[in-house]
Amino acid sequence: SIVLGLETSCDETAAAVVAREPSGEGRILASIVRSQWEQHRPFGGVVPEIAARAHVECLDVLVREALNGANVGLDDLSAVAATTGPGLIGGLIVGAITGKAIAMARGIPFISVHHLEAHALTVGLTEGIAPPYLLLLVSGGHTQLLIVRGVGDYERLGTTIDDALGEAFDKTAKLLGLGLPGGPAVERMALKGDGSRFKLPRPMAGRPEPHFSFAGLKTAVRRAAEKLAPLSDQDVADISAAFEQAVVDSVSDRCARAMEIAAARLGSDVPLRFVVAGGVAANQRLRASLSELAQARGFSFHVPPANLCGDNAAMIAWAGAERLTRGMVDPLDAPVRPRWPLDANATPAIGAGV
Ligand code: ATP
Ligand code: MG
Ligand code: FE
Repeated sequence: SIVLGLETSCDETAAAVVAREPSGEGRILASIVRSQWEQHRPFGGVVPEIAARAHVECLDVLVREALNGANVGLDDLSAVAATTGPGLIGGLIVGAITGKAIAMARGIPFISVHHLEAHALTVGLTEGIAPPYLLLLVSGGHTQLLIVRGVGDYERLGTTIDDALGEAFDKTAKLLGLGLPGGPAVERMALKGDGSRFKLPRPMAGRPEPHFSFAGLKTAVRRAAEKLAPLSDQDVADISAAFEQAVVDSVSDRCARAMEIAAARLGSDVPLRFVVAGGVAANQRLRASLSELAQARGFSFHVPPANLCGDNAAMIAWAGAERLTRGMVDPLDAPVRPRWPLDANATPAIGAGV
């Protein structure tokens, strides 16, 4: 099948075309991402109204570019998939309406894609890894440990009780006077820093339930920064390094706990796999540490290439293709859902509505 994917849930407008072979192998024919950061930067964060308008202004152009890049026409498409949640409602509506319009005009199925399911399934596209697996999902709005049992079948083991990890990176960056998006900026500074200068907490370490917390860490970072103000470049680098190390230690501890639970729940007859996905999965120190942990615990380790960790439409098209194969298509009046927990997504196929 050949599926067009649309992503408009936050501050990236993206369109992509992905092919899925009957063997289950996936291939990206074209993938275009346009970030809106320049438009939001003056406001220090994503402004929903600006985001929605920016999606409207460029989505049709991106669709055309993606089709041209893939060298396919609308008639070659098997289905159209769009993110319908969770995310900012204005952007979600833009993507959903565009996808539905194309589906209706060409008489092909429309597929509602859960943004987090798309992050969760990306390793199927990039590495051919199929469920079941233990997943750490770390993004701008979410921090969760889940057992992915199948497409649309998720069991949540843990979540954050306050900030998401990407949010913690972004807030730390802001506090240190680094630009947004914060994750890559903090990572770059941390490379030049000495984290041992500061003693920061490892939130939740040792707790039996694999939950996360980052609000306390953020406060500790603020205190350290305030004590030294005004900050030299070296101070910023050292605080960045200390923050990153605390995050890596805390997340590794939580993942180790989740591995024990997952190994027990999955049983001994399936290979143990550990997958990391979402924007923060691009972080090199986190990848390295979790890869080591997985190896030590008998799990294979899988993470998408850095450019497919953050938001993109190839993952939306791929999740759409995986759903299409299973007959999980949606009616043209499928709603957008700004709030939509992934584990509530374990509903069976809604049925062919188109
Ligand atoms: P969600 O997927 O939860 O709806 P989102 O789509 O906005 O949120 P993503 O695009 O998946 O989030 O990820 C963006 C987040 O990843 C941002 O918070 C960003 O700072 C963070 N991030 C990106 N690159 C890195 C990095 N190298 N190190 C740490 N964090 C990073
Ligand atoms: Mg984003
Ligand atoms: Fe995302």
